[in-house]
Amino acid sequence: MTRIDRVPVEVPTSAPAPTNAYVVGDDEVLLVDPAAESAALDAALEGRTVSHLAVTHTHPDHVGGVAAYADRTGATVWARRGREAEFAAATGVDPDRTFGDGTTLLNGVRVVDTPGHASDHVAFVTASGVVSGDVAFAEGSVVVPAPEGDMRAYLVSLRRLHARAPPRLYPGHGPVVDDPKRVLERLVRHRRDRERRVERAIREGADDLDAVLDAVYEKDLTGVRDLARATVHAHVEKLAAEGRVRFDRDAGRVAPGRAADD
Ligand SMILES: [Zn+2]
Repeated sequence: MTRIDRVPVEVPTSAPAPTNAYVVGDDEVLLVDPAAESAALDAALEGRTVSHLAVTHTHPDHVGGVAAYADRTGATVWARRGREAEFAAATGVDPDRTFGDGTTLLNGVRVVDTPGHASDHVAFVTASGVVSGDVAFAEGSVVVPAPEGDMRAYLVSLRRLHARAPPRLYPGHGPVVDDPKRVLERLVRHRRDRERRVERAIREGADDLDAVLDAVYEKDLTGVRDLARATVHAHVEKLAAEGRVRFDRDAGRVAPGRAADD
């Protein structure tokens, strides 16, 4: 088994706070998602050698401590191949090496592509489970914010993780997930249910993203409206790609598609 320590780090985030950093390995470790420099993270690293540093994705609530820990530890800093510029812009650090789907970082820690929430999102597979970033949380759902977020890719990522049947998920926010199968199935169901509601709202006359948003969510969206709207946008993009709705991006208008009639 691989030792994995979860270290919650307080940073501003639109996801459930705080962000989890992870220390993966025994003496020589991989540091994942150092969201900020913190005393708790320093304590977790005490007496250990940080030989590798990587992030699940480059959103601001996951990268704030990359420059400091890279500097202090001299770790090999990794970035997604093809995303080096975004990584450097987000972290202030030029990566030493790049990985792709399937790359082994250290003692059996392997990268798996999991785009959807972010286009550069990856997870780290170990014998103890998957350090999975913002793919799945124990409670609640994950924002998939178009245009960067991609709902079709996100569903593939959920299914990829499900197919691996990992013993645990170590998520970017909230507690460790001890029942990945149930949680991943819940999230696939949630997205399918949302998609059906979005399509129905458009068939019943909602003709722009705000109208769809109002028809789909019954709860009060104060403070989260932009994120909810971006996720509805991602659903609309998926339905448009499947011909089930028509989407005029410039005008922001939606309408039923041909395939919606069958
Ligand atoms: Zn994120």
